[in-house]
Amino acid sequence: MSEFSAGEVWLVGAGPGDAGLLTLHAVAALKAADVVVHDALVSEAVLAYAEGAELVHLGKRGGKPSPKQPEINERLIKEALAGKRVVRLKGGDPFMFGRGAEEVLALVAAGIGFRVIPGITAGIGGLAYAGIPATSRDVNSSVIFLTGHDARGLSPEGIDWAAVSKAAGMIVLYMAMRHMEEISASLIAGGLAADTPVAAVMNATNPDMRVLETTLARAADDIASSGIGAPAIISIGRGNLLREHLKWR
Ligand code: SAH
Repeated sequence: MSEFSAGEVWLVGAGPGDAGLLTLHAVAALKAADVVVHDALVSEAVLAYAEGAELVHLGKRGGKPSPKQPEINERLIKEALAGKRVVRLKGGDPFMFGRGAEEVLALVAAGIGFRVIPGITAGIGGLAYAGIPATSRDVNSSVIFLTGHDARGLSPEGIDWAAVSKAAGMIVLYMAMRHMEEISASLIAGGLAADTPVAAVMNATNPDMRVLETTLARAADDIASSGIGAPAIISIGRGNLLREHLKWR
């Protein structure tokens, strides 16, 4: 990979939390950076690699007061124009429900040089730490990744839940904790069996990871009574049953 030039912004995937899941490119970028602008989901273990850099916490967090996207874009552009090597560090993969594309478009419009370094997304790597394979030959040949809310924090009304119910053997939901009741009901109404296995994986890959196994019909209640909350990944499908044999952590 080319050298990190002054005045560039590198959009870097931090993975779900465990620093061992960083790529070599990510580590090199963190060590070379002057400024690291990170979001709320980036773990302390990962930030520790940004040895000499100024750390700026600037990210959106569902349900909490958070900076507006234009403010984040402006800060990235300002740091780059000041001649800094800027890492924009985002949880998981920057292009997976992370507004990475929006940030890069703002950089493009401002004429700022950039790179994108992918990361391990929570919906694959996080599930793997819970012993849940996103695909498995005997179980599902397709997987759907969905966000549980849209840009306004609402449950996405544009989604055809009946089509989703039939389209894939595994549905992986991001940012869905506050809408599980509605989502489960929509999927059951769309034809998915009420006893379809569901897993909720909170703080995936981190030392405080928690996993709840339930069913579609019971998911919202079981999540509420278990105290499991954001950040959590929800997987819906028979592949969750493989956890019995595949859980290693
Ligand atoms: N770009 C990120 C996703 C950002 S959206 C990625 O690729 O993983 C934020 C959502 O990601 C959270 O609400 C949660 O659903 C999920 N998430 C991110 N990190 C997580 C983690 N360590 N454990 C469980 N879920 C996580």
